Amino acid sequence: MLKMENISKVYRTDMVETHALKEFNLEVNEGDFIAVTGPSGSGKTTFLNIAGLLETYSGGRYFLDGKDVSGISDAARSRVRNEKIGFIFQGFNLIPDLNLFDNVDVPLRYRGFSSKERKERIEHSLDTVGLANRMKHLPAQLSGGQQQRVAIARALAGSPRFLLADEPTGNLDSKMAHSVMELLQDINANGTTIVMVTHDPGLAAQAKRNIYVRDGKVSELHEVSAPPTKE
Ligand code: ADP
Ligand code: ADP
Repeated sequence: MLKMENISKVYRTDMVETHALKEFNLEVNEGDFIAVTGPSGSGKTTFLNIAGLLETYSGGRYFLDGKDVSGISDAARSRVRNEKIGFIFQGFNLIPDLNLFDNVDVPLRYRGFSSKERKERIEHSLDTVGLANRMKHLPAQLSGGQQQRVAIARALAGSPRFLLADEPTGNLDSKMAHSVMELLQDINANGTTIVMVTHDPGLAAQAKRNIYVRDGKVSELHEVSAPPTKE
């Protein structure tokens, strides 16, 4: 469903050129759950941002659902992003003065759903993450793990086929990280393809495939040999 061929990305700031990605090749299949690890500065976030059509690239080809998205207009990029892709970030990125219901509503407002459909989607996705009874709460009234669950609900509310997560457990203690990981596994089991950047080898081992990024390239790609058994 996603294929990158020799993607390169050069950042130019003042006199400095940074080759964040070079000959980056990856194929992600429907139903995959891929964990991306690698040293700081190796290009993981750049890859996710390109995959999510948040950033352009300098060379190579990127196919999303078989369609080359390299040359498409900004408007088309936004439409594809809104319809197909959900994002989760390390810092949750919730809006502090909106309650949970309104936070989850934010991306839905760009989608042309009726208010009735938006309400159903918001309630269903907050229910999925176990926070249906907290809809009127503000983010600050929740623990970190609960805030990340709201961010996951927001990412899911538009029914994306593809979920991109950048260090989703980076700000959480290990117990909360584990429960967020379980939630992501459930979401994946229900058919959403997930690509997750993580520094935590224990969490990476629970994904279906691992890729290791080094110096802007995929340097290792393997199936995880023993899928986790859930108790
Ligand atoms: P990672 O997520 O693996 O830590 P990044 O993708 O964030 O790596 O960064 C890859 C390289 O690109 C780094 O050298 C980083 O400094 C550089 N880089 C990332 N974003 C920018 C930017 N907006 N402008 C200039 N350089 C950047
Ligand atoms: P955790 O240990 O998981 O971080 P906290 O100790 O922050 O959780 O919170 C425990 C419970 O109290 C959670 O259900 C959280 O949502 C709730 N809670 C925490 N702070 C507030 C608050 N300011 N207002 C309402 N509920 C809160």
